[in-house]
Parts: sequence; C-alpha cells; structure tokens
Amino acid sequence: MIKTTYEIIPDGISKRLGVVATTIKSHKGEFLTPDFAINSTYYNYIADMTTAGLKYSFPNNFYELQRQYTPTKLELLSSTSNSAKEQAVHISRIVGEAYDNKDRFIIAVPHFSTEEIVIEGKKKRTSIKELTWEQNKLLIQLYLHSNVIDVISVHPPSSTSPIEDVVDWMKKSREMAKPQGRGDYGFEKEIAPIIDLSVKPKYFKNLIERLISEKFRFFTIRHRKLLTKERINQRVYSNLSYIKEKAKEMKYHFHATRVDRRLSVKLPVSMKHILHIFGFNTFCLPPGINRKMRPLLSFGDALHYDGLTLGVMNYVERNQWHRYRTNGFCLSNCPVCKDKTFEQFNVEYDKKDILHIAIKIHEAWESHGIFMDIREAIINDRLEEKINEKYFLEQNMKTLLQIKLKVD
Ligand SMILES: [Zn+2]
Repeated sequence: MIKTTYEIIPDGISKRLGVVATTIKSHKGEFLTPDFAINSTYYNYIADMTTAGLKYSFPNNFYELQRQYTPTKLELLSSTSNSAKEQAVHISRIVGEAYDNKDRFIIAVPHFSTEEIVIEGKKKRTSIKELTWEQNKLLIQLYLHSNVIDVISVHPPSSTSPIEDVVDWMKKSREMAKPQGRGDYGFEKEIAPIIDLSVKPKYFKNLIERLISEKFRFFTIRHRKLLTKERINQRVYSNLSYIKEKAKEMKYHFHATRVDRRLSVKLPVSMKHILHIFGFNTFCLPPGINRKMRPLLSFGDALHYDGLTLGVMNYVERNQWHRYRTNGFCLSNCPVCKDKTFEQFNVEYDKKDILHIAIKIHEAWESHGIFMDIREAIINDRLEEKINEKYFLEQNMKTLLQIKLKVD
C-alpha cells in the first residue's frame, strides 16, 4: 500500500445529472473542486497590470504549472555538457513560477510544443512525439527538485504505446516520486498519467481502468475538440462519457489541460463548464500568447467570458444579454469590472494593451466564483435549477448531452 498525504473527499453529487463536487485535502490545506486552474500566464498579467498601476491577486485554488518543451529545449536539458547550469536555471524558473503567497494545489504539466527547424535548406515543423525513459526521468527530477508541486503529470512514451508499457512506465515514475529519505522532498508527490482525449475509446477506458487498478487517482487529460466542423467527434464524446461515469465514484481527480475557451463559434458555451458536466474537477487553458505577440484588441473584438449565461461572447452579444437584465452591468465580482457597466469598462480599457489582460483576469475570477456557486448547488442538489439560469449551458444540455433539465 502506498502511503500518501493526499485525500480526495467526496462532498456531493447532483442526483440526476451525476455531476460531482470534491475536496482535495493535503498537508497544505483543503482545495475545493470544481475550480478553474490558473497558470503562469495569469501572473504575467498581474505583473502587467501592476505596471499599469493596478494590483490584483487570484482567488483560484488550483494552479497548473506549465512548462513548454520543444525537441531542442529537451535535448539541451538532457545533454551532459550543458546539464548542470541549464538545469539549475530551469529549476529556479519552475520554483519561481509556482511561488505565490496563497497556498494552491499545484499540478505540473510539461507541454510539448512545435518548433521550426531547417533541414537541407527546408523549413520543417517538429515536436516531441516519443519520449525516452531518460527524458521522462529528467522531467520528473526537475519537478521533484522544485519541492513545491503536488501532482506531477507524466507523458506516456507515446500516445499509442501498449497499455502495459504505459502502466509500467507510470509505476516506475511513481517510484521516483517516493520520498527518498533525504528530507528535501519531504512528502510524496502524486503522479498523474497524461492521457489524450482523442485516443480510441477502448484504449482510453482500458488504460484508465488498468491505472486505477494500480491505485493511480489523479489523471491529466489533454483536451481535444468535441466538435469538428460543428459535428460531434465520436471518439472524444465516448471518452468524455466514460469519464462522466467514472467521476461519479468520487475517488479520482480529473484535470483537463489545454482547454478551449468555448465549444465552437456557433455554440459559444464556455468549454470548462461542459467539461465539468462530464465529470472533470479542474480546468486550465493553454499557455498564453507571448506578451510581444499579443495583438492590440479593441473591446468589440475581444471575447468575454460571461457569468450570467456561461457563454464566451463579444461585446455586442454580451451587451444584448445584459442590457435589459442588469442595466448593462457585468455583475462580476472581479476587481477589474466590479460595479462597472460594460460602457465604463470599455472607456477604461478599450484599445489599450491591458484590455486583453483585464478580460483574462475577469475570466479567472469570475469562473472561480461561478464554480464555487455551482459547487454549493451540487451539494444541495440544486444543480439543475442553477444550470437553468445559465442560457448557454442550458441550451447545450439539451442539444449536446440530450439531458432535459428538471426544475420545479
Ligand atoms: Zn469581471
């Protein structure tokens, strides 16, 4: 039996919809789910806002520590000549990124990004498709040395490796994360296998079942689009449906990574709320765009997360919803738009390079508040009533999930 300091506590389930609320209890404290996990991009936003004279922090309980690796970057870290210095820099970055004055539950996720390389004069895009054990070991060691992480997400050798190979790989990874008696790591970290949402449903189900039989409880699921050209991707749908059933046991934690902001252009419901209905506990967006690459948005073009409807819409669409219901007030409690109308928000941020940031700070705060409301509704078995108030989620319950809400 593996000794662990993490407990997943079942708090409630909405009886008919089977949607869950849990708490993770650890030596750091108690972390309530569902919740929207922030990433380092949000700290950069705060830094930018501070420069602009505004000081904020986030109430969110979860943090996804995202580090991006291209083949070259991983090669550089692995090479013996550079390793000592490079790794020291790398570890200090990891620690710095995860440091905050609030105790958060930290899930580390290495992301593999593409890079352009030139072979015989031709440009070619490439990314890490297969991982060697040495590379995996190095990534785990870096995260272990950072000493602040709760869950280390581990990539399988490849997304199609035989199930037993993946299980052995994950078990070996877990062995590494056990306290070595050196005192510096202190407590045991959890290993979360990373599983792609677009793999074949039989493989997806069998792999998770096998990992559960080996006592894995945390899973990092790489999100993939549920709709392609407005049609349901059957593989993704089947895999989501499997998680929905498994989540009802309330013994596991499903973290969704690289989540889209909305389902699609035609169905602009916030994707994290759809994933929550499918049993996920925490949700994180992909790494943000580099500050210098960020386009200068105008208020009208930007997409806003809307707490009233749970849609992600532009200004005109959002204003239509709010005009008669709230007299044009956003109603969010976030520090960016608290007590402001859209008009006032617009005057303050339009065409400024902090507009994009203000919208994301709003999204992090507002999603957290909405999820805490939803959590209460689950515990009191009033979730259907709550969803019924949220136009876009309610619409998609019928069309996408074929669930008709019962509200009395
Ligand atoms: Zn707001």
